[in-house]
Amino acid sequence: MVLLTNTLTYLDHAATTPMRPEAVEAMLPFLSERFANPSGSHRFARSVRQVVDEARDVVADALGCTPGEIVFTGCGTESDNAAIAGTQQRHGGIGVCPAVEHHAVLHATLHGGGRVVAVDSAARVDLTALAATLDDIAAVGQTVSIVSVMAVNNEVGSITSLADVAAVVRRHAPSALLHTDAVQAPCWIDLRTITPHVDLLALSAHKFGGPKGVGVLMARQGTVLEPLLQGGGQERDRRSGTHNVAGIVAMSEALRLTDIERVADNLRIESLRNHLVDTVLTELDDVIETVARDSKVVGSAHICIAEIESEALLYLLDEGGICASAASACAAGAMEPSHVLAAMGVDRRYSPGALRMTLGTTTTEDDIDRTIDVLVAAVRRLRTPRAAHVSTAVPTGASA
Ligand code: PLP
Repeated sequence: MVLLTNTLTYLDHAATTPMRPEAVEAMLPFLSERFANPSGSHRFARSVRQVVDEARDVVADALGCTPGEIVFTGCGTESDNAAIAGTQQRHGGIGVCPAVEHHAVLHATLHGGGRVVAVDSAARVDLTALAATLDDIAAVGQTVSIVSVMAVNNEVGSITSLADVAAVVRRHAPSALLHTDAVQAPCWIDLRTITPHVDLLALSAHKFGGPKGVGVLMARQGTVLEPLLQGGGQERDRRSGTHNVAGIVAMSEALRLTDIERVADNLRIESLRNHLVDTVLTELDDVIETVARDSKVVGSAHICIAEIESEALLYLLDEGGICASAASACAAGAMEPSHVLAAMGVDRRYSPGALRMTLGTTTTEDDIDRTIDVLVAAVRRLRTPRAAHVSTAVPTGASA
């Protein structure tokens, strides 16, 4: 994929995806001549409302639910917060989630006084620990009103079986709602295999070729939540605020195409990902694949490199035109492993050198070949004693 210049390779699809051209095309009329507010009563408004309803049908079809169960929101973070805070505000009780959740879930759960559960070495919730936590909470007379478990981890790509989670939740906390943050799932997993197991499910359009600033909360029929926003009562009183019509239309088109093309895309991307990781593991010593390939989505190439600091590596990758990311955050001057790697128990010899490369529909063989060349050279350079002095303070091209 060629971006802006001929020198950028984008391997950061878990952060955001390029918009599908068909989605851009679909949204344009609603940014210009078809600007009416779909909540209006005149024919201009009604015609736009019909388009929003058609988009709802498309999204419901991709999820395997009814159109009435679809709530359009402003982003994945909002959908997660609406599910967790909305459940607690309406039903009381506390939330429970695994330690590796995206902060949209983790912070919302902790903010409501909730509990965090351990995960296994592949970042999947430990079902025994989940059952024990639910039992403990009941034993002290508290109620769990919501359990939230992500479908696909945004950092390391691991897939969690919501069917297995649901079996534990229905048994140990029968009155709790089960929410899943499925924001990272649509490109890789048929959502119809997830939806039947949960009461609530969050999506974000920009993770599957749609625009930023629009998302979905699937709320199973009969699930009553306190809305986050008070206002005009749109979305059947579940999400007030004038509809982002252009965003909703583009999102539905992106999801429709993602759904149709998923199987073929996955085959192609899996072979690119395997070539990337296999070659890097052959070329470089002391590199681990953070999660086994059969436990994660095919777009995820997450590795940890011994004797490397992610920050320095990302600097050299950026200099070489490769857009990737790390799983580390810099706290108080020291590189700390991400909350995900820490919860997985990744060896501290490897975790500082975490590298997340995430592929997508537009990734090409050339992208992978360039990435291999730049990455291997960067690691070799950083591992030579002189390279300890590589400066990460000044971005490429900036004047000092
Ligand atoms: N949940 C997961 C798993 C994500 O990866 C993200 C985005 O990084 C979000 C939630 C938040 O989505 P949004 O950017 O639409 O708020």
